Amino acid sequence: MSEGHDHSHLSDTELRVRSLESLLVEKGIVDPAALDTVVQTYEEKIGPQNGARVVARAWSEPDFKDWLLRDASAAIAEMGYHGRQGEHMNVVENTSQVHNLVVCTLCSCYPWPVLGLPPTWYKSAPYRSRAVIDPRGVLREFGTEVPDEVSVRVWDSTAELRYLVLPERPLGCEGLSQEDLAALVTRNSMIGVEKVAPPKRAGAA
Ligand code: FE
Repeated sequence: MSEGHDHSHLSDTELRVRSLESLLVEKGIVDPAALDTVVQTYEEKIGPQNGARVVARAWSEPDFKDWLLRDASAAIAEMGYHGRQGEHMNVVENTSQVHNLVVCTLCSCYPWPVLGLPPTWYKSAPYRSRAVIDPRGVLREFGTEVPDEVSVRVWDSTAELRYLVLPERPLGCEGLSQEDLAALVTRNSMIGVEKVAPPKRAGAA
């Protein structure tokens, strides 16, 4: 088998990244172990649980929510989430009148410190184009019905500015701790393709 040499399944971008990586390693500019550590950190340690904690805190503390909507970069950094691909953040709030959806039409800009690495579909050409042309259709495919009277706003992420959706707090969350609230918040709800489902109550049917 020629595994490891057959690059026919790789995209142009992936091929370019591979070539650059080998060149940097070859020239002694980059330590491959250090690269692996960065990738592993984002795969295993930094993920949507960070964003979920931000959302849960905003649901629980009105002052924090105000700050988050005014200056997301600072409010998120205060929780310890900062670093590459998240230097400049904007948080957009879903309400009974507005549903926000995030895309990067150009490539795959995504707020790494709060959401980790982007899912494959986020990087796909169909999502990137259709999120703009037919956002309600895309939402429907994720099982999200947004009523006609609710406007849908689409935010195009760039290298300069990345977005996090503050989903609506579902009903039935009374008495839940921030930790319990965070457990309800999904990655997709913070991209805006889904809503946060209400908690499943013990003993509920
Ligand atoms: Fe991008």
